[in-house]
Amino acid sequence: MPSTKAYAALSATTPVVPHTIERRECKPHDVQVEILYCGVCHSDLHFAHNDWGMTVYPVVPGHEIVGRVTAVGDQVKNFKPGDLAGIGCLVDSCRVCDNCKDDLEQYCAESAVFSYNGNERDGSGNTYGGYSQSILAHEDFVLRISDKLPLEGVAPLLCAGITTYSPLRHWKVGKGSRVGVLGLGGLGHMAVKLAVSMGAEVTMLSHTASKEADATRLGAHKFVLTSDEEQTKKVAGYFDFILDTVSANHDYNFYIAMLRTNGALVCVGVPPNPANIPAMTLIFGRKSFAGSLIGGLAETQEMLDYCAEHNIVSDVEVIAMKDINTAYERMEKGDVRYRFVIDMATL
Ligand SMILES: [Zn+2]
Ligand SMILES: [Zn+2]
Repeated sequence: MPSTKAYAALSATTPVVPHTIERRECKPHDVQVEILYCGVCHSDLHFAHNDWGMTVYPVVPGHEIVGRVTAVGDQVKNFKPGDLAGIGCLVDSCRVCDNCKDDLEQYCAESAVFSYNGNERDGSGNTYGGYSQSILAHEDFVLRISDKLPLEGVAPLLCAGITTYSPLRHWKVGKGSRVGVLGLGGLGHMAVKLAVSMGAEVTMLSHTASKEADATRLGAHKFVLTSDEEQTKKVAGYFDFILDTVSANHDYNFYIAMLRTNGALVCVGVPPNPANIPAMTLIFGRKSFAGSLIGGLAETQEMLDYCAEHNIVSDVEVIAMKDINTAYERMEKGDVRYRFVIDMATL
């Protein structure tokens, strides 16, 4: 099996270090991609540190992968060597359950195979992600990437982009919608750009006054400082849709109060503590509290094509592979605008 250069966490308490992994040989439906850029998602850090208690070591994080096709299996129809390609959070699923048939592979009843720390369906072991020289996946899980946009800015679309695009589409955000975005980080900054491009009126909700300038630069129409009672009063019962990207503990009820009748608060961040929401908070106003996980393959391709058409990329800071641990430390302090992306030529 081909040896592949990578970076891996070998335990919860040690840094991410150079490591060699074995990738499978190219199977008939496989597309092999040489990785050019890989975004650094908060999930990478959580898996490296085993924050969710499910990490199998060594773990090679990275699920915001763009690169160039270097080889394809003899059954592959849609890719050829030299093409640009992307691989996001998923590399396989059962293909036959109701969710898979509905293009919702992320909710596969047998559990989708995630790009890292996932179990290969053929029993061959753990998947390894994008902090590596190359990766292979079945062509159905490989995405077409436009050459119109800077690739380093495209990489984060594969997780941060689809995580925010999918709920905006599902809840039919568009012209006339009043959208609140909670949290201005990797996910939040994409949510602002995407919701603005869809024609919504977008308000950034933040407890940090200094974020207003950036929110405006990203296209937000309004800014509400959530620590200012006067400002929050003005948006009571105001929003059709709030996308909550915050992964620190916070009071959901405070934001649900900002929804108008039939409004929805959708969380994509994962705080450590469970939500505590009295039913009455939802009953009065027929409000919804919901969650959303990335997107299926068809929708991810739709999002990539949409971003190419509307000239939308992530705001990134490109780093060398060896600086990944410093990047993690900065992410823990919220010190990144708005996504680190690894230049894999530095591996
Ligand atoms: Zn991610
Ligand atoms: Zn399935």
